[in-house]
Amino acid sequence: MSELFMTMWAQSLGVNVYHGVGVDFEIPEGGSVTSTLDDDKRSSASFTTPKVILKDSSNSIGTSIDARMVCDASGFSRRLTSKFGARERFECGWNTDSYWTYFREKDLSNVDGRLLAWNYPATKHICFPEGWGWFIGLISWHHAPLANLMDLVAHVIASAAAGIPAEEFACTRELSDTFACPYEFITSIGWAVRNDFKLPDDLSAYGAGEAEQKFNFFRKRYPAIDTLLTDSFELLPGYYDGRTYFVRKGLSYRSPVVAGEGWLAIGNSAGFTNPLISPGINVGIGGAWRAANLTAEVLSAPVQEARTVMLAVAKSHQAFMHDFVLPRLHNLNRTWYNSFRDHRLFEAVPRTLWSVSFRAVDNHYYGEERMQFSEADARWVIGAGLDEFQALCVEVLDVLDGVNGGAPPSEQQVQKALAIMERTVRERTEMWPENRWDRWLRQYDDKLQKVPGKTARSEGFLVEAKRCGVCNYFVHNRADKCPICGEKDVWGRGASKI
Ligand SMILES: Cc1cc2nc3c(=O)[nH]c(=O)nc-3n(C[C@H](O)[C@H](O)[C@H](O)COP(=O)(O)OP(=O)(O)OC[C@H]3O[C@@H](n4cnc5c(N)ncnc54)[C@H](O)[C@@H]3O)c2cc1C
Repeated sequence: MSELFMTMWAQSLGVNVYHGVGVDFEIPEGGSVTSTLDDDKRSSASFTTPKVILKDSSNSIGTSIDARMVCDASGFSRRLTSKFGARERFECGWNTDSYWTYFREKDLSNVDGRLLAWNYPATKHICFPEGWGWFIGLISWHHAPLANLMDLVAHVIASAAAGIPAEEFACTRELSDTFACPYEFITSIGWAVRNDFKLPDDLSAYGAGEAEQKFNFFRKRYPAIDTLLTDSFELLPGYYDGRTYFVRKGLSYRSPVVAGEGWLAIGNSAGFTNPLISPGINVGIGGAWRAANLTAEVLSAPVQEARTVMLAVAKSHQAFMHDFVLPRLHNLNRTWYNSFRDHRLFEAVPRTLWSVSFRAVDNHYYGEERMQFSEADARWVIGAGLDEFQALCVEVLDVLDGVNGGAPPSEQQVQKALAIMERTVRERTEMWPENRWDRWLRQYDDKLQKVPGKTARSEGFLVEAKRCGVCNYFVHNRADKCPICGEKDVWGRGASKI
């Protein structure tokens, strides 16, 4: 649905969108790749561009597109980047694999009381020594006919274009009735686990195919997870295209070349590390924003400078995505996974990473400037872009990392890593004494020290949510109207604030 919305939104802005059309690319003879940019000897002022080949089964829109600039956003299929080399693996001796499926939430009141703050409107994570699990609540329009959905989205876009304020927008229930689009709430649940953990050779007791067996193996390995799934979730067999269980292996990689003459690659086509704390979408947006600006630079360059500007832009994008973003996210990822190996490390890592990621947390995120996305924001990379963050990761990884399958570290390793993190938190809280960390982290005070019995954020946290007293849906921020059922006074009547 979000993809449909974005493509239709783009169409409404004048972008041609071809639905159901496959794309491939042809590299022109001599079309340079980034590695040759430094010794580029050609005198031409113009540059070449990969040819975009359309595979349209209806044969109604032609067979190719002429473009001065091409952006490869084809995700894991890496349609263009794959022509410049196979996926590069990060050299740390281990990678991660994921196994997932879809459920319907049954009854939240069954949830184990030990799962503090489980009742929260965001992706939830449960971490264990070999990896972690995600619980992502989704609104699914899977059973709605595509034509009806397109009418619904067109109506929403027309309402936005007409300047209808949020309070007067039709709510989801009304839209669903008007356009005959049934919807339901489902939950994606999956595990992202280290591939250096040795699973038993025979997993036949856990189900049929590999994805099902490995999903169920980790489910059963942790009784708390098994109980949670049994009591509070109902499996949705064959929900997507008749498939129930899904697998994706070797999550971390980067494409060796992510830019060249006439093209740039963004998102998963450039690389990927891990879905933990959502770098895929958050950092992906920053990379796409930057690529759009670089494209504008190329297209607006005077004709006689076009090639020089193109080559400089390709080098900048290569340096940003390949050399900066992906290895830095990879270090963040390894640090998290190593923290899962001992509960003391797991408790220490989040507050330490937060302390290094955010600098002047309140000033930056509460002021007007939060509305202006900048180059500094794109380079922030959820904190991993900061040099001091990387220095911390390197120091901790030096103590903990290696091929260990998630086995517990030695006591000496734990104490050494904890000392590094204690020192870091002390330094950072002294450096930013104005930070109101108690607003951000439920169990901590302003010096990032745990406060026994504190389980809620202090007053003043920017992002707030309430459960609608009528339909029970979480409403974010300060909207008065529930977007699902249309209740007009969410903040006033019976809503519970999170
Ligand atoms: C198991 C798993 C869980 C994840 N969970 C999270 C999460 O919780 N939070 C988060 O931030 N990120 C998460 N991610 C990552 C996130 O999904 C990706 O980082 C993000 O979707 C990347 O966006 P993209 O546009 O690069 O690729 P995609 O979203 O994959 O889009 C690529 C598009 O290109 C199309 N395409 C491919 N080849 C062709 C072709 N030849 N012709 C025409 N079209 C083509 C595809 O159909 C698709 O629509 C997860 C990833 C995985 C694998």
